[in-house]
Amino acid sequence: MSNRATSTDSKAGPLYSHSRLSSFENCPKQFEFRYVQKIPSETEGVEAFVGKRVHEILERLYLFVGRGQIPGVEKVVDRYQKLWEETYDAERVRIVREGTPLSYYRQLGEDCLRGYYLRHYPFDEGETLGIEKRVVFALDEAGQYRMQGIIDRISRASDGTIEIHDYKTGARVPSQRILDQDRQLALYQIGLSRLYGEVPFRLVWHYVAKNRTCTSDRTPEALEALRHSTIERIDEIQTATEFPARKIALCNWCEYTDRCPLHATPETLARLEQEAAQRREAEARAAAEDEAQLDLL
Ligand code: SF4
Repeated sequence: MSNRATSTDSKAGPLYSHSRLSSFENCPKQFEFRYVQKIPSETEGVEAFVGKRVHEILERLYLFVGRGQIPGVEKVVDRYQKLWEETYDAERVRIVREGTPLSYYRQLGEDCLRGYYLRHYPFDEGETLGIEKRVVFALDEAGQYRMQGIIDRISRASDGTIEIHDYKTGARVPSQRILDQDRQLALYQIGLSRLYGEVPFRLVWHYVAKNRTCTSDRTPEALEALRHSTIERIDEIQTATEFPARKIALCNWCEYTDRCPLHATPETLARLEQEAAQRREAEARAAAEDEAQLDLL
């Protein structure tokens, strides 16, 4: 495999994540901007901003629960409102849906937290084993196909089942058929099964904006098929030489519309091409100078 577009360390293979794979699948051009050219994002959709704040507050809530100090719901909401004040940046956070006021999104986050709190209080449905837990694992014996991810919460249910929890703040709740094919949490199960061994697992999604909880189980055969298909996808990315732009429903939320060949103005594209050519020239000059230095040594 070539070594493109991923986090790496010197000894092991490249490091992928579910979101990297999804970015390539949704729009290869976006993948190229984000992970090959590593162009920093200057803006963030308000939906993502709300999602992050809700995740942070739930993380904090479970830390307190773990210490036996369950805060009241008003305290949780108060903390969310303070966190919003501390982190909201009008220059950075974008409202894509025209006509929707910022107050709607702020209230949405609060409603998500209230709903979750009241549904799960006193938070004794299982033993929490990890919160915002980073996992890194290989899909193959040689460690050439490595995945990473951050799991919102891991718990052990009273029957010993290990549950992998994910909080979703989006409005749409997928069908059971879609959830049964969802890749992200099933990949985490592959990683966690190395840690917890041959125990039953359950994948749990909390659609907090709809106050609904959905679950799915995976057979060993389904996990094996997922392992194979993910390795194939990584191979495809590693050998890709072109990254075409693909118009998708989420284009309006893409952080690269201003430089995307399908959206940017011809003038902008010409300027970007000129800048890229100048960059390539500078890199070639630097490489030639390095070689000349080596010759002198
Ligand atoms: S705006 Fe759409 S087509 Fe362009 S890079 Fe982003 S996702 Fe791809």
